[in-house]
Amino acid sequence: MSGGAQHRAGAWLKCPQCLNDRFYVMEAGGGHTYFQVDAAGRLFTTRHPRKELSGLDTSDIHCTACGWRGALKKLVP
Ligand SMILES: [Zn+2]
Repeated sequence: MSGGAQHRAGAWLKCPQCLNDRFYVMEAGGGHTYFQVDAAGRLFTTRHPRKELSGLDTSDIHCTACGWRGALKKLVP
């Protein structure tokens, strides 16, 4: 790995229900945007190269593993 800001493994915030660390939001067009959330609450795409997301509505995010749904601030370290 080289270049850009890297994140320590395990530094992502997790689902309060199943501790999965991947989430998505529904897009207006019907698609999904997948992301992970770092300890500072910043959103990054799960694709490489990672891209920081901005302007997403994080009041209603979905866990990709268990179906939990809620606000970004409910995630746990
Ligand atoms: Zn979950």
